[in-house]
Amino acid sequence: MSKLRFRVVEKAFHKKPVEVASPATRPSEYFAKYVFNREKMFKYLPSNVYAKLIDVIDNGATLDRSIANAVADGMKKWAIELGVTHYTHWFQPLTEGTAEKHDAFVEHDGKGGMLEEFSGKLLVQQESDGSSFPNGGIRNTFEARGYSAWDPSSPVFVVDDTLCIPTVFIAYTGESLDYKAPLLKALRAVNKAALDVMHYFDPSVKKIISYLGWEQEYFLVDEGLYAARPDLLLTGRTLMGHEASKNQQLEDHYFGAIPTRVAAFMKDLEIQSLELGIPVKTRHNEVAPNQFELAPIYEECNLAVDHNMLVMSLMRKVARNHGFRVLLHEKPFKGVNGSGKHNNWSLGTSTGTLLMAPGKTSEENLRFITFVVNTLMAVYRHNGLLKASIMSATNTHRLGGHEAPPAIISSFLGTQLSKVLDHLEESTNDDLVSLGGKQGMKLDIPQIPELLIDNTDRNRTSPFAFTGNRFEFRAPGSEANCASAMIALNTAVAEQLIEFKKEVDELIEQGEPKISAIIQVVRKCIKECKPIRFDGNGYSDEWKVEAARRGLDCETSCPVIFDNYLKPESIRMFESTGVMTRKELEARNEVKWDMYTKKIQIEARVLGDLVMNHVVPVAIEYQTKLIDNAYKMKSLFSEEEAQTLSAENLAIIKEISEHTSFIKKHVDEMVEARKVANRITSEREKAIAYHDTVAPMLEQIRYHIDKLELIVDDQMWTLPKYRELLFVR
Ligand code: ADP
Ligand code: MG
Repeated sequence: MSKLRFRVVEKAFHKKPVEVASPATRPSEYFAKYVFNREKMFKYLPSNVYAKLIDVIDNGATLDRSIANAVADGMKKWAIELGVTHYTHWFQPLTEGTAEKHDAFVEHDGKGGMLEEFSGKLLVQQESDGSSFPNGGIRNTFEARGYSAWDPSSPVFVVDDTLCIPTVFIAYTGESLDYKAPLLKALRAVNKAALDVMHYFDPSVKKIISYLGWEQEYFLVDEGLYAARPDLLLTGRTLMGHEASKNQQLEDHYFGAIPTRVAAFMKDLEIQSLELGIPVKTRHNEVAPNQFELAPIYEECNLAVDHNMLVMSLMRKVARNHGFRVLLHEKPFKGVNGSGKHNNWSLGTSTGTLLMAPGKTSEENLRFITFVVNTLMAVYRHNGLLKASIMSATNTHRLGGHEAPPAIISSFLGTQLSKVLDHLEESTNDDLVSLGGKQGMKLDIPQIPELLIDNTDRNRTSPFAFTGNRFEFRAPGSEANCASAMIALNTAVAEQLIEFKKEVDELIEQGEPKISAIIQVVRKCIKECKPIRFDGNGYSDEWKVEAARRGLDCETSCPVIFDNYLKPESIRMFESTGVMTRKELEARNEVKWDMYTKKIQIEARVLGDLVMNHVVPVAIEYQTKLIDNAYKMKSLFSEEEAQTLSAENLAIIKEISEHTSFIKKHVDEMVEARKVANRITSEREKAIAYHDTVAPMLEQIRYHIDKLELIVDDQMWTLPKYRELLFVR
């Protein structure tokens, strides 16, 4: 081991867990301690203001500017009691992560002193220099200013000394420059469309909510080892590294005990998450060594998205306090599992009925089938778009690998639900037993067994699986903002439900009884969306052939997949539901292509540097040692003896030369390929060039580096190896 490597590995090996003091109280008492939730609103706001604000939050009433001052005042009072000095508009730009600009509460008091000031105006809206965030040209075409505006449906919270206000970020001309604004519009669309359909079954329901429960996977790596890997530091993944002799084949990590240093990190993270009102619940080891998962109890989608963003930044912070770095990249290590962020999604009423859970009565089951089938239809019609919504330069490494959902969107329903749908498809209205009365028809679905809820049959290869009372969208990447997938999914379902209702209403108008009309349209949908249903092995090559035959989107090139956003049916979907305009979609795609290019560009540069500064020099140094040895052999032994004795060495000398010259040649070619690509002006074409010409070279070069890693004397190899990154903790 090289000296540096030895030092960091040894240090990591001997690290003790950081003691995390248990809070003096129970989670129920410190939950949401740093959140301005209803309880605090009630305490810090005048009662009329409180009532108005609740109306805004619960019923989407418009925020009356006249109450903003009183709300800001109450917030300030609460925050100052917690020692807060600054506030920030917290928003989600089109890059990963969140953005914030901190301002102090202080203002001149006009008498030469200072006072703490926080007005309603500052709470509600702020101008921001949007040009420093990606906007796909919107801001050049339109106006120079952008602003952030408070989203009252997500409560403000305190981090350290700062009051954080969740906001949308929009151009002065109204276009969304972030994830939250279109998400809120998508949620409004799906809630309205689902409510209208729900009224067929229960006219008393007042509100439908879209729920999200994310499962966040991540890796932890000791910070010393991390710092000694420039590729991890700069790109979030290892661009080289031979697989450890042992990785996950023993499957001993998943069920194993959580290592103590990691357990301390988790405990700390959970306490801090709970204090911020994030209902974290589940923690466990994941499949790969040093890979873990965190999941909360599901929440209303907008809030869940904010909480996931917050958890990711908390993870980064808390990990550092424990001498770790958290890796949120989808594929930090080749040859072991990557990380995803399963998005468990469902629709439900505000009183707790889940629309995609079977019920006890035939009517409830028809409601269940209706919403499941409409979801399937939406996923079928927009399967390419849904794939685009989760696609990124980093997630492509994970999708289609033999451990993650394939790069084709399909849905797994399980045998029972499949049977029910098949039965309904084959039935005719004459099969349905008449109930008489105004209900018209009784649904001839055999009572759906309760067992369905147990959801014992699972298919881990499915990207969009039904799991008892929800769908689990497994394709989103660990690093992504869940909003991207949730915007596409909720909008697609909204559009589908609107069309469903239109068709049912037409039949009713023609005199068809309601239930029978619903069944007819459901039956038609079941037939139409059949190609999206797939219960087999998503990893198999047969499936790729079959999926193409079924007309599902099988494209694998990330920049080309983004085209799905600009297909006529996608634009129609987003525009008809009021979620995004063509202009916004075009601008956002420019950002996606640009981000793709930049990621590959950075990786190519980092790999080039590492090769020239670490890999090749070390390989040549070792080679020189071998050459030296061969010469000395010659002076000790006869020519012939020396030949035989150093045959092995000579072979290695040759092998090293072959690898290093391949590497050098291809690094030069990669630089050339970048130059060619950089001259392309269209963002789309440039991204495609990076995908087609630069990205494959990263893999080719890596192959030879990894071979060298195996050959070169371990004592000389400077970069921490997989066995250290993945097993030392
Ligand atoms: P598993 O690993 O078995 O898929 P987990 O318990 O790790 O399940 O995570 C499941 C996630 O799904 C949790 O966040 C949970 O709260 C969420 N969830 C459960 N029911 C629903 C639902 N109806 N809608 C949305 N999310 C749900
Ligand atoms: Mg899951």
